Amino acid sequence: MERSTIVRVHDGLHARPATRFVKLAKGFESDIELIKMDKSVSAKSSVKLMLLGVKENEEVTVRATGADEIEAIEALIGYLEDPHAGTADEASAEARAAEPAAPVKSTVASADTIIPGTRKIRGVAASEGFAIGPAFGFFPAEIKQENRLLSQDEISAEAGRLTQAFATVQRRMDASLDATDLAESDRGIIAALKDIACDDELTRAAEALVKDGMDAVSAVIGATSRIAADFASMDDPYLNARADDVNAVGRQICLALLGQDDANLDAIPSGAILIADDIGAWDLARAPLNRIAGVICGHGGATSHVAIIARAHGIPAALGLGPSIHDLQEVKTIALDGNSGDVFPDPDQSTADRFHAQIGAEETERQALKAYKNIIPKRADGTIIEIAANLGSLEEIETAQEAGAMGVGLFRTELLFMRHIHLPSEDLQTETYMKLATAFAPDPVIVRTLDIGGDKPISGIDFPDEENPFLGWRGIRMCLDRPDVFKPQLRALLRAAVHGNIKVMLPMVSDIGEVRATRRLIDECAAELAVEGKDHRQFDLGVMVETPAAVMIAPMLAKEVAFFSIGTNDLTQYIMAADRLNPTVAKLNDVTHPAVMAAIELTTKAGVDAGIMVGMCGEAAGRVDLIPAFVKMGLTELSMSPSSIQRAKKCVSELALG
Ligand code: PEP
Ligand code: MG
Repeated sequence: MERSTIVRVHDGLHARPATRFVKLAKGFESDIELIKMDKSVSAKSSVKLMLLGVKENEEVTVRATGADEIEAIEALIGYLEDPHAGTADEASAEARAAEPAAPVKSTVASADTIIPGTRKIRGVAASEGFAIGPAFGFFPAEIKQENRLLSQDEISAEAGRLTQAFATVQRRMDASLDATDLAESDRGIIAALKDIACDDELTRAAEALVKDGMDAVSAVIGATSRIAADFASMDDPYLNARADDVNAVGRQICLALLGQDDANLDAIPSGAILIADDIGAWDLARAPLNRIAGVICGHGGATSHVAIIARAHGIPAALGLGPSIHDLQEVKTIALDGNSGDVFPDPDQSTADRFHAQIGAEETERQALKAYKNIIPKRADGTIIEIAANLGSLEEIETAQEAGAMGVGLFRTELLFMRHIHLPSEDLQTETYMKLATAFAPDPVIVRTLDIGGDKPISGIDFPDEENPFLGWRGIRMCLDRPDVFKPQLRALLRAAVHGNIKVMLPMVSDIGEVRATRRLIDECAAELAVEGKDHRQFDLGVMVETPAAVMIAPMLAKEVAFFSIGTNDLTQYIMAADRLNPTVAKLNDVTHPAVMAAIELTTKAGVDAGIMVGMCGEAAGRVDLIPAFVKMGLTELSMSPSSIQRAKKCVSELALG
């Protein structure tokens, strides 16, 4: 039996999703294959799955043969279409293990622009930040193939040794995974390495070589280097980086065969810059990371596991320096700029001074901002200014809470609709909004109803071809025309409101009739739920102010709704008549233009006069250069990306001090 689907797993079947898919597949007796184009692999091998290179939005077929084939297909197709469905525990475990994002371009000037004449080697910027410290070389001896030919009667003992060595490495990895002090992100990485160590593809390839008469060490090196070469040749930097993981696992198995301990990082001095040709993620995750000030490697790139660990622990890193890494073996001091990937061996005094100053400034800012995490910023008159988070999925909850978000000012529901091949059911939506509300209760969570149009179609809704999709059938306009899409969302929101402080806002409103029609639908939904005996609660209804029409009728709108949230991203493009996606008119798409600022002020005044809350959830809400003006206008809620929260809290708190 087989079924095809479109993969909705973000970034495709990479390490962690592949691991989860394999775990699911192994729970069934049936033989299961995953087929892409005309290539098919066993769904029970994560190495093979990763080598299939399945990307998001690609079509694949799951084929199962056996007693439980129907259940297997149901579960695996379900995972591919909605990897985040499942228990709350699973979802939050995934959220905890979420990889820190690849480095964004730093706003801090790169050190090399200011220090001409100093020797510099450039690597890949893999984890941002500046570091300077004593160099600590980590160059474990290479394990070479013995190329020993076994006699016929040696083969079975050697195969036994091989099995033992695999088991030893798996046990050691299990012990690492059991360690209580392991960071969650590192746990995910070690689990992925263990998966490689347990993978049938690898064990069978090594066993086959031993059965052909090759010694076990050579067999492991042969098998791992073939699989690593397959990863290295793939057209995807993330999968290329998995070659290093396979080699690292192979090395551990060889060491177990040889009865040797690997070199370790226990002796690394505090504040040192670690220099290695190819450090395994497992070695790094087990190392005393609090003593490592920076990491420099000959191998690796921004998506390698070493980079992910470095980012998760805030350790600057430059990877992929190539053979020039060996020139650093004799170096005493290293300065490292993780924003640019530049490495300065034995820097001169002025370079060193510059780095020390930059590190000091960064650290001071980071530490100082932490103090604002739990601050409740207030205006001078004591009014609380809520600093909330903009979120697009449940996976982002923990980051927002860690930053100190005072609730959610914008939950974009589009992702929930785009992740599925069908429209998400009312129950699935209820569960999602409920988890969100519960996580932040009693703080408010503002959920925006579906804001989608012809520029971003989703399956289940046919959008007409439009000359100007940004001026077309989108947001509230589409929802009101499609009660079959809108009502399940409103019903789900009414049901979820029982579990926390849910508020709902409508996007793209340009006419008061849209608010009234939505209210009628909400009442209809509430009446239906009452008849069905389903628990539900009314929520505050607000509107996004993001069209010039909404600004002009703001005094009237304010009498009909509980709050405004100004969407400066769209408001700017519509006020300025400058497409927010068109770089040619980017100069005009400027929120600080007096026309846009006037629109914000008009809206805020209308809301304040009517006594309703006025917030902002467009990108401008997180800009510390504009926050003072917004607070002065009367905005009392600013919602932004979690990374801007502490800075915004500081900014508002300082305003109150005058
Ligand atoms: C906005 O338009 O400012 C907004 C927050 O909504 P989006 O960016 O999702 O259109
Ligand atoms: Mg918008």
